[in-house]
Amino acid sequence: ASAHVVIVGGGFGGATAARYVKRFNPSIKVTLIEPSKTFYTCPFSNLVLGGLRSMEQIAHSYDHLKAFGIDVIHDYVTVIDADKKTVRLQSDNDISYDRLLLSPGIDFRWNALEGYDEAAAERAPHAWKAGAQTVLLKKQLEAMPDDGNFVMVVPEAPFRCPPGPYERASMVAHYLKHHKPKAKLIILDAQENFSKQALFEQGWNKFYADIIERIPLSLGGKVTRIDAKALVAETEFGDVIKADVLNVIPPQQAGLIAQQAGVTNESLWAPINPNTFESTLIPGIYVVGDATIAAPMPKSGFSANTQAKVAAAAIVADLAGKEATPAHYANTCYSLIAPDYGISVAGAYTALDGKMVERSGGVSPMDGDADFRKREADYGANWYEAICYDIWG
Ligand code: FAD
Repeated sequence: ASAHVVIVGGGFGGATAARYVKRFNPSIKVTLIEPSKTFYTCPFSNLVLGGLRSMEQIAHSYDHLKAFGIDVIHDYVTVIDADKKTVRLQSDNDISYDRLLLSPGIDFRWNALEGYDEAAAERAPHAWKAGAQTVLLKKQLEAMPDDGNFVMVVPEAPFRCPPGPYERASMVAHYLKHHKPKAKLIILDAQENFSKQALFEQGWNKFYADIIERIPLSLGGKVTRIDAKALVAETEFGDVIKADVLNVIPPQQAGLIAQQAGVTNESLWAPINPNTFESTLIPGIYVVGDATIAAPMPKSGFSANTQAKVAAAAIVADLAGKEATPAHYANTCYSLIAPDYGISVAGAYTALDGKMVERSGGVSPMDGDADFRKREADYGANWYEAICYDIWG
């Protein structure tokens, strides 16, 4: 019988892995398990908040993956038994595998920030998984009083998408500037410094100087308690900040199924061999994407996509009794500050002596002219088209 590769999670990492295992060796049976029939990408969900994209424009189906010969099962994996090599579905069926790949993304550490649990997220949305939460936050933004306060709470690293909060701030500020110019956006930040900081701040000074105020860690930006009913955030320094819309990005951990499977360590993230993305804790289980410890690679969709290709090649080689070839990775994160004003950070990575290292990289130049920033905005849009085509077809 042909080998069976089972993949858990149909997001950036999992859907890529399914496609590339099949592409590298069409005789392998590939099963992809993902509860949602429509996947909404976090990339470009900030643009939905800014009014520059619709939810339909960030929605993807699994039809092309099915047509590619992948068995897509819309279900949720509840238990992984690494000894028996089986996964259990919520519908109660067991599926056995020869190799397993997990790309479950993140789950939130409810109550790690006092007062912020699942119920609180219905009043103070995170919108850090795209879909219903994105729609909820957008509705709240639109219903906010004209002179209201939009308050955004940013956790300590590591979290999904290092520049994500600051792109969100830009897009929310873009909306406010055009629809509620008297409103304010306050970022309460548990970080002192952040990704592409100088470029973001240059863009904010240019477009949103009267709208965005950021309070970094050293000035008391760290939030220690949320009262979602009262829409209040309390900081480490004892300040009580009242919001009209409260967007809380909570502390995170690897998707819970990775913890259930036993591939996470005390950090609640999954250690991997950086040359293959095989778990260092359970051989035969591969983990890619946000759930892994792959720093200095950031937790991005681009990273998940490139890691999944490496893991797919490693799985196909392993099943054929061959060694994995040396791996190379790339990442670029584009952020949009205003409609024709983009910035980016890029890096190239490789595994060296069992460690992930950055071989080269950098950010786009400061003081780029309007033409340069427009080109970066266009590259970002083209990147989104290309990667979604690569993954979901
Ligand atoms: P996901 O893409 O989240 O996929 C995980 C999937 O696993 C989900 O579909 C989930 O339903 C499924 N799953 C989980 N548990 C189970 C289970 N037990 N059984 C079955 N299925 C399960 N990245 C970029 O590269 N560029 C950007 O511009 C960018 N912008 C972003 C903006 C925002 C606001 C945010 C929040 C993130 C952004 N990211 C961006 C980051 C990107 O979204 C993530 O890094 C990427 O989604 C990680 O891929 P993943 O496969 O690890 O997880």
